[in-house]
Amino acid sequence: MLEVVRIPVLSDNYVWLLHDDASGETVAVDPAVAEPVLAAATARGWRIGQIWNTHWHGDHVGGNAAIKAATGCIITGPAAEADRIGTLDRTVGEGDHVRIGDHVAIVMAVPAHTAGHIAYHLADDRIAFVGDTLFAMGCGRLFEGTAAQMFANMQRLATMPDDTRVYCAHEYTLSNGRFALTVEPDNDALAARVAAVEAARARGEATVPTSIGEERATNIFMRARDVAELAERRAAKDAA
Ligand code: ZN
Ligand code: FE
Repeated sequence: MLEVVRIPVLSDNYVWLLHDDASGETVAVDPAVAEPVLAAATARGWRIGQIWNTHWHGDHVGGNAAIKAATGCIITGPAAEADRIGTLDRTVGEGDHVRIGDHVAIVMAVPAHTAGHIAYHLADDRIAFVGDTLFAMGCGRLFEGTAAQMFANMQRLATMPDDTRVYCAHEYTLSNGRFALTVEPDNDALAARVAAVEAARARGEATVPTSIGEERATNIFMRARDVAELAERRAAKDAA
């Protein structure tokens, strides 16, 4: 049985602690910072044995060195960005497996936000850590890649089972949802979700994780029919 703990840090980042009861292992996913992540683990009596990074941005790797210094953990990240993440112990790419206890995460290459961005998919556990590739009702900005790459990523993520829980790295849901409504004003599932998200945020609640099923119904980037439509929507969101 895997447990996932959300740690809100910086202005809108989420660091995820993944814990396996059976083995006692704990993984920190994309630790932007160290202190709150170490504190969250300590509060539960957990010791962080691994870090999994999705991409090189500072708000995903900034805590690597200090967590390693405190715990001696092993840091895994994208081979294609090894030159930009000085703290990696192990580099991985498409199709590689990483483990927490007996649970396996398959590495998926999902370039576009950054050139070497990866995701970690624990298929048997219906869990995906997607970094800044897929957000609740949104997708990552195309800093180092193309709309064609992001379209392929969305199509691929959409093939996961609907009940797959999607752990993204930012609380961007409300902004994404409001923009999405301007694109699909007649999408009832989207309108209902945005209303629910507005209420949740007003109560100060997090809206992540999301699920593949929810995204298939309400994510205008996953729902884009072709590359051009995704590109148009991404550009419009960037300018919004
Ligand atoms: Zn990023
Ligand atoms: Fe980020």
